[in-house]
Amino acid sequence: MDNPQEKLRTGELKLYALEKYMEADEAVKIRREYIEEKTGANLSAVGKYTIPITKVVSRNIENMIGCIQIPLGIAGPLSVNGEYANGSFWIPLATTEGALVASINRGCSAVSKAGGADVRIFQDAMTRAPVFAAKNIAHAAESIRWIEENFAAVKEAAEKTTSHGKLIRISTYTAGTSVYVRMAYETGDAMGMNMATIASEAAAKVIEAATGLRLIASSGNMCCDKKPAAINAVEGRGKTVSAGVFLPDELIRTVLKTRPELLIEVNMRKNLTGSARAGALGFNAHAANIIAALFLACGQDAAHVVEGSNCITTAEAVEGGIYVSVTLPSLQVGTVGGGTGVACQNECLKLMDCAGDGKAKKFAEIAAAAVLAGELSLLSALAAGQLGEAHKELGRG
Ligand code: NAP
Repeated sequence: MDNPQEKLRTGELKLYALEKYMEADEAVKIRREYIEEKTGANLSAVGKYTIPITKVVSRNIENMIGCIQIPLGIAGPLSVNGEYANGSFWIPLATTEGALVASINRGCSAVSKAGGADVRIFQDAMTRAPVFAAKNIAHAAESIRWIEENFAAVKEAAEKTTSHGKLIRISTYTAGTSVYVRMAYETGDAMGMNMATIASEAAAKVIEAATGLRLIASSGNMCCDKKPAAINAVEGRGKTVSAGVFLPDELIRTVLKTRPELLIEVNMRKNLTGSARAGALGFNAHAANIIAALFLACGQDAAHVVEGSNCITTAEAVEGGIYVSVTLPSLQVGTVGGGTGVACQNECLKLMDCAGDGKAKKFAEIAAAAVLAGELSLLSALAAGQLGEAHKELGRG
């Protein structure tokens, strides 16, 4: 194309449409140069990237001008005794928060020396909840009865749209004449949000036709996607996973440099009592830190850190030591689809043997074990009164 910059300036060419006329890398370069001219900003660092972007510009982003590079660190090895993840894993973490990787690394060492984290997945259920309008309360009640009695028909309509998605449960809620139909799916190795949305739209059409309910929106916010919500904490969303480890007294003293009773007290007064007093949904020290760094490294939907921060950390005395655990009721991960195929992110999944088919539950178990390592390390730093020192040393160069 001749003189695309001039065509952009005159409006003859739309900024978002460049890929229609040229290769992706050229389109990104021209768009970036146009933005540099418009803003006076120097975007030379943003313009240097190594990932192939032909698929990225059609699947993952619009109006691309370059890449943000986030430093990638590694923690581990972390020993995991799960049903799907069994062995020792290196954990890739993308962050600009100094001291985070060092802290998780210390937790990995403690968990591994203690024999590894026991991890189990208790539920696998990505949700989408369309909202319908009923004519009145009686109509809302009749419609819900129809949905309950015709689960098989709704399931059939939903599952026609996907070969991997399975509708496993429907829960209904009302507020006056608004009817919320929360549909829960197993989504194979995909995180499943697109899959569940497409399937729920098909299911909603069947419900609308049969009941006379009026479909208002395919998401009525009782899903509840990317917003802090008690429903996700109570009923779960995505994968519900727990990881736990028994720590002998001696290991707490030598590796974590604290005492068992102090660890238990910090957990009780901070994670449980403090969170309750604050009305927090997350009863943990910093689960979101580990989830965010792991999600950024591994091509997960970063906004799902909201649900990932939903975690309860427990520490209880048992003979000879303590048992520390984390429970994540709403961990949303995938190893196919979304950003998992982008080159750097795909490499990070591969370094844990978690890329592609058959790996999502393995990845979820590793993620929960990494959260356990992170929780343990911060709790023990607090118990030993070391937190400020670590940040001074590692986070302020
Ligand atoms: P997706 O990339 O949209 O879909 C996954 C695809 O992988 C499906 O087409 C599925 O086919 C296929 N697939 C192949 N092998 C599979 C396997 N082993 N397990 C499961 N699926 C397999 O991914 P998604 O996880 O559904 O959605 C993730 C994306 O949704 C992210 O990019 C996220 O940012 C975005 N998102 C969307 C919404 C929304 O409301 N639409 C909300 C939040 C986030 P079949 O379906 O034919 O089986």
